[in-house]
Amino acid sequence: MQEKETMEKKTPEQSSQVSRFSKFTDRFKKKSPEEQANDMTSDSTESSQNQAKNFHNRFKQRDSKNYTNTQGNTQTDTQSNTNQGQKNFEKRRWQGKNPHAQHNKAQNDESINGIREVRDVNEKGNLGLHKDLKRGVEANEKIQRQSLNAHNKLNLNTKASVRITPLGGLGEIGGNITVIETQDSAIVIDVGMSFPNEDMHGVDILVPDFSYLFAIKDKIAAVIITHAHEDHIGAVPYLFKLLQFPIYGTPLPLGMIGSKFDEHGLKKFRSFFKIVEKRKPIKIGAFEVEWINITHSIIDASALAIRTEAGVIIHTGDFKIDHTPVDNLPTDLHRLAHYGEEGVMLLLSDSTNSHRSGVTPSEASVGPTFETLFKQAQGRVIMSTFSSNIHRVYQAITHGLKYNRKVAVIGRSMEKNLELARELGYIDLPQNIFIEAHEVEKYPDEEVLIVTTGSQGETMSALYRMATDEHRHIKIKPSDMVIISAKAIPGNEGSVSTVLNFLMKAGAKVAYQDFSEIHVSGHAAQEEQKLMLRLVKPKFFLPVHGEYNHIARHKQTAIACGVMEKNILLMEDGDQIEVNPNYMKKVRSVKNGKTYIDNQINRQIENDVVLDRQALASDGIVIISAKISKDRKILETKITSYGLVADKEDKGFEKEMNDTLEFVVKNFKADGFNAKNLENEVHNTFKRHIFKKVKKYPTIVPMIYVV
Ligand SMILES: [Zn+2]
Ligand SMILES: [Zn+2]
Repeated sequence: MQEKETMEKKTPEQSSQVSRFSKFTDRFKKKSPEEQANDMTSDSTESSQNQAKNFHNRFKQRDSKNYTNTQGNTQTDTQSNTNQGQKNFEKRRWQGKNPHAQHNKAQNDESINGIREVRDVNEKGNLGLHKDLKRGVEANEKIQRQSLNAHNKLNLNTKASVRITPLGGLGEIGGNITVIETQDSAIVIDVGMSFPNEDMHGVDILVPDFSYLFAIKDKIAAVIITHAHEDHIGAVPYLFKLLQFPIYGTPLPLGMIGSKFDEHGLKKFRSFFKIVEKRKPIKIGAFEVEWINITHSIIDASALAIRTEAGVIIHTGDFKIDHTPVDNLPTDLHRLAHYGEEGVMLLLSDSTNSHRSGVTPSEASVGPTFETLFKQAQGRVIMSTFSSNIHRVYQAITHGLKYNRKVAVIGRSMEKNLELARELGYIDLPQNIFIEAHEVEKYPDEEVLIVTTGSQGETMSALYRMATDEHRHIKIKPSDMVIISAKAIPGNEGSVSTVLNFLMKAGAKVAYQDFSEIHVSGHAAQEEQKLMLRLVKPKFFLPVHGEYNHIARHKQTAIACGVMEKNILLMEDGDQIEVNPNYMKKVRSVKNGKTYIDNQINRQIENDVVLDRQALASDGIVIISAKISKDRKILETKITSYGLVADKEDKGFEKEMNDTLEFVVKNFKADGFNAKNLENEVHNTFKRHIFKKVKKYPTIVPMIYVV
């Protein structure tokens, strides 16, 4: 036998191999179970125990390094430990000490350093083995369950608590603003605006009611910004006209707030800006805040980790979990997991897309759609999207460049945002690819890309004006390919439809929802919400950003991901929630609401003005002017109505109203016959009379002169 010959000329190393081999064969020839057991325990017990100890120490060492040096060279540490472990393993193997050898000395159910021995190697059946394996299953399940219960790491003995008060962003989409406060310190997270309903006539934007901030202004340490969308920063200038606090944020949001301050004449308040770095916890008031990179439909967005005396709070801001973002800066899952492992008391998470199953596609998935469309385009390409979606604009421009097109960016907000993103170095595009709107005509159609605003059908936007032939330089042509890389925000469907009608009437080829990935959302669908919940594994959960139905759906997702139902609250604006590691409860409601803003003059419109406009719009107006003598003769009258009866019925209506006036004057009681009392009586009588006739309560304006 070839093998045997080699074995006989043995080196010291080989000798141990031989002895092991012979022991192995001998055992099967003649040894009793007891003898076998003795053989196996002789030196392998010690070796396996040492080995386990080694492993244990190694993990201990690695763990402590991981926790103290979260951003350091843990990878290298782990690497060298593993290498060392591998070397030890090899060494023992060649010494003939089989590190995998088992022994059955353990007589109790305990594992030793994570290893459980098989107790009866000689049993005939598998009953005993299966018992041992089952103990292993139970132990592993227990360990996993414990790891899911990271909130058990919360300090249940603390008396400290935190209060959370959303002043906007709940019961609505947009207008996000949330106060987080302790006894003597507070931070305000985001100060966003929202859009008015259709019945808020002449109102351009809505700004949160700041009354509560006035009430606690002395303890507000800062405004904290998550990202640069209007529904998170749009109301900052309006707050700053009333109250000023330091504003902490990453560069893009502060850049965009900066240009708002320029427009509002608040330039001097730039001194309040604090530019933060991600992954660096910063002490702000009684809090320590860390900005965590998150993917969204705008660059430089963040989630927040807020360390309080009571426990850690994670606020996701707006997010999706995009593994292949255009800038290759994905969501910092590691930091979220880090806090999750440490133990998170409370999670506040974005509910915008909580009805949507699956995963929101990556921003990068729009690229292939652009490719298809740009390839087909014969004439100009006109791409319209949200002005803040820099990566979408960037993707369109890179496709334009690929197909040798010059780029005209048209629309003030988009020009401004793109310029800022280029200046700050978020994207890199050479200046010589850009042309002005008035230069477009100088180039052949197939060499032009127009990137523009108006994807929501806004009548003031560049796209709308191009489509309706009102734009100074650009007119839609039948050879144009128009790409609407957006989806109508609820409420805007009508205006988007209108602009589509105009574009198609002008003969343009329009790509809107014909491709599933012509636009992707910036908000997490259910699977991403689940990933967030599993990474952070909070004890308490407050779904935010959304109407009631959105947060209620998010609650279901959270329950499916192991958050206890009693630990979830559905908030409304103004609710004040108190949280401590032991409980979460609503403690009171604070004043909240909206202030109406006229964007043309950047000023507030008082509530009664808006109410008047609503009443006028829905029920019309009646103006009654009359000159009456003291002896109750009606000398002169003029009764006019608007929005109540058709012009052709005006005469008849006026006659009837005159009769009513006569009736009032005739029946007025003797004392107090003066203009003021008459006006009151006219108002009430007309109100009743008109309602009987047309079922409307118009605004009634009596002007009575007693002479
Ligand atoms: Zn938002
Ligand atoms: Zn957003």
